[in-house]
Amino acid sequence: MKLLHHIVRKVFQPLFFLALALLPGLSGEAGANERLKLKTVVIDAGHGGKDPGCVSRDGRVYEKNINLDIARKLGSRITDAYPDVKVIYTRSSDVYVTLNNRAEIANRNNANLFISIHVNAASSAQAHGFSTHILGNDKLSSNMDVCRRENSVILLEDDYTTDYQGFDPNDPESFIFFNLMQNAFYEQSLTFAAEADKELVKGPVTHSRGISQDPFWVLWRTKMPAVLVEVGFMSNAADLKKLNSASGRSEIAGRLFQAFRSFKAKYDESLDYSTESTSAAADGYGVQIFVLSKRLAPGDKAFEGYDAEAVPAGGMYKYVIRASSEGAARTLYGKIRKTFPGSFPVRMENGNVSPL
Ligand SMILES: [Zn+2]
Repeated sequence: MKLLHHIVRKVFQPLFFLALALLPGLSGEAGANERLKLKTVVIDAGHGGKDPGCVSRDGRVYEKNINLDIARKLGSRITDAYPDVKVIYTRSSDVYVTLNNRAEIANRNNANLFISIHVNAASSAQAHGFSTHILGNDKLSSNMDVCRRENSVILLEDDYTTDYQGFDPNDPESFIFFNLMQNAFYEQSLTFAAEADKELVKGPVTHSRGISQDPFWVLWRTKMPAVLVEVGFMSNAADLKKLNSASGRSEIAGRLFQAFRSFKAKYDESLDYSTESTSAAADGYGVQIFVLSKRLAPGDKAFEGYDAEAVPAGGMYKYVIRASSEGAARTLYGKIRKTFPGSFPVRMENGNVSPL
């Protein structure tokens, strides 16, 4: 029971930040919809500074430089096509940034999408192709090497045992944490991953190793749809040739840009659609306990025994426990706010949920 409680906390606590982030846009005023569209993307060039990432066999090509170049090319494609989308880089030069700071940059800016760019490597020179990863834990064995490598950046930090909650990149047991968050942005992350996979296969690296769910720390810490792309293998001669050419990197950035374009169209459209369909929720009062992208069944254990209603909002569901009046909503809030940190009393009107 204690463990269950701990798990529920672990899963939902980060979502409250999301609930807060969505608040100003969901107050039901005209133009609220406009404000909920995809406005901010964070592009994360993996590694940097003292952390080169993987290195080519001849020691001349560093992953960190390839990542940065593709990240910047992708960013400028987005800026050119969508001047009102804010493009934020976790690094725009050859500097070292911790995994926590990368996620923190995205969270602080309320980004709608996080794209992390990496290059793969293997002991076999035969392994080749690109792969797309979203957060999860269901294929531990197959991608354990790449996860261990990408996560092991943590070990470069002096205080990693405290800053990373005892997580040890070399201990598969500690990866169990990662299971807990995967439901929150799963669908949206998968949508971008599928677009990326569909585009990247057009080349220059044409072999897709598929989309998988893996325990990458940086994906776990970001509170938004997040995808990590390994654009090819440093250890494969054919892949390396493409990655090491400016035109190859431009092409890869172009593929990722097309994926972004499709994702943005879907993201913006889903908001329009769900705003129209929210009229189903009856007017009244209650306490919003959290927001999820997934629809939980009535009686789900996450509701802690309360009766919560799912109100569609911006491609997500706001979960509200009903109360009979404004006063009752405030009383209920006082009673359950410790059970649901980040909850707040709300009014429901014309399908919109707004704070009291
Ligand atoms: Zn990497």
